[in-house]
Parts: sequence; structure tokens; C-alpha cells
Amino acid sequence: MEKMSSSIAQRLGGKVAIITGGASGIGASTVRLFLKQGAKVIVADIQDELGHALCKDLNSDDVTYAHCDVSIEDDVRNTIKDVVARHGKLDVMFNNAAIPGDYRPGVLDADRENFEKVISVNLIGAFLGAKHAARAMVPARKGSILFTSSVASVIAGHIPHAYTCSKYAVVGLTKNLAVDLGRYGIRVNCISPYGVATTMLRNGMDMEEDEAEQLVSRAANLKGVVVKAEDMANAALYLASDESRYVSGLNLVVDGGFSTVNPSFD
Ligand code: NAD
Repeated sequence: MEKMSSSIAQRLGGKVAIITGGASGIGASTVRLFLKQGAKVIVADIQDELGHALCKDLNSDDVTYAHCDVSIEDDVRNTIKDVVARHGKLDVMFNNAAIPGDYRPGVLDADRENFEKVISVNLIGAFLGAKHAARAMVPARKGSILFTSSVASVIAGHIPHAYTCSKYAVVGLTKNLAVDLGRYGIRVNCISPYGVATTMLRNGMDMEEDEAEQLVSRAANLKGVVVKAEDMANAALYLASDESRYVSGLNLVVDGGFSTVNPSFD
């Protein structure tokens, strides 16, 4: 890829952003977009090979990889500490990493270990990211903390229980933190995607990308649009940038109208 210039007017010019789960899917797409929009980006993930490959492909001094398991507090603390030591600040913390857990949705087959693992990555991981990011942002009295929830936070369905619970909880965390951190000028918002044919979704559906995209498109209300990871990255860009400076506590649902009315009622 061509080396990017950071001198053009950009929507995240001068900002420092950490993106967890940044090695793949929605996270990787957001890494690309944030970099293009002038941010210094830290890709935080547990898939080291994929994360390093993404940075190599982007070929910019403004993107680096950090191994960070979001469910381990020391990893999160150290990643943020290193970023602040290197860049002097943290402007945007995008807590995007998650796991689906065991794809069998039924409570009859569910086990406690799987439930706890999902909560520990999707919810505790988000909480830890927010906590340590907030500590780094308070001195500047500004910052944007973002989470990726899911359309599973506004509708329930054939999704594993632990995943749905974790994503509902992330919305609760968003709203509570918006109240808690508003006094320091820190904004807290989340995005709720639907149907992006990433590794996570394709594994869950056991389908190839095209097949998954077609199925998702049929279920959405908005016809003729195939949702892409870039659609979520664009939502994240708005919430990370100063364009949303008066927006806090929002769950931005990006789902082609899927959660509004079930099209099968037509
Ligand atoms: P993905 O599997 O492509 O990406 C998830 C990333 O998170 C991976 O790179 C993975 O290595 C990383 N990760 C997992 N556990 C981690 C941990 N403990 N620490 C650090 N990183 C970890 O899937 P995606 O679809 O891009 O998922 C991104 C986010 O979007 C997730 O929060 C997911 O729940 C949410 N989401 C996705 C969809 C969709 O349609 N794809 C819908 C709703 C919500």
C-alpha cells in the first residue's frame, strides 16, 4: 500500500486512538479509516500475526500493533500506559473486541464456563478499557470512549445468551459512563452493528462471505444495500471525531432498519 501523508485536512488529525479487536473485521476497517483521517492508531488484539500484517500493509509510521488481551487488566493498563508514554495522550479508546462464545444458543446446552468467558471479554474487557482510558483522558478533560455493542442489544433472537447479555450490558455501561465521565468532558458512546460478514459472523452462520451478505440483506428493511465493515467504521469515525462533540450516552444502531420492524410482517 502507498505511504500515506498526514498533512491533508483530516477528521481525526492529531488524535491518538486505540482500537481493540483491531486486527480483523470491523476493527481493522476502522484502523484503516482512522489512519486515513489523520489519527495515530494502535491496533490492540490477541491475533499478533494478523495485527502485524495489517500494520505492514498500511505501511505508515502512524500505525502500530500492541498485543493486548482485553480481559486481562495488566494488558489493558500497560497498553494504555505505553501509548501515553509514546504519544503524550490518548484521545479515542474504541473498545471493539469481542467473542461470540459457543454458537449453540440454547440454554439447555449452555455451560457456565462459556458464559463467563464471553462476559469476561465482551463486558469486563470493555469495562477495563474504559477505566484505564478514562484515567489517561481525565487530565486533558476530554476524550471519546467507544464500544461496539450489537443489534443484539435491542432485539433478542437466535444468538447465544451470553453474547446477548454482554451486548445489552455494554449499552448500560455506555450510559452509566456517560454520566460518570461527562464531568471530565469525556464522551462515551456505542455502536450496534448488524450483519457484517466478518470472521465472527461467518463462523456463526457457517457461510462464505457472499452467502452471508445475501442472507443478511434479505432480512434488513433497507433493500439493495450490502452492509460492509466500512459502514461501522464510518459510524465510529463520527463518534470519535469532534463532529460529535455534544453526543454522549448514545447507542448508534447501524442495521439497515433491521431492528425497527421485522420485514417478515410485511
Ligand atoms: P472479528 O472476529 O472479525 O473481530 C473481532 C476481533 O476481536 C478479532 O480480531 C479478535 O482477535 C479480537 N479479540 C477477540 N478476543 C479478544 C481479546 N480477549 N482481546 C483482544 N482482542 C480480542 O469480528 P467483528 O465482526 O469485526 O467484531 C467486532 C465487534 O463487532 C465485536 O464487538 C462484535 O461483537 C461486534 N458485532 C459485529 C457484528 C457483525 O455483524 N459482524 C454484529 C454485531 C456486533
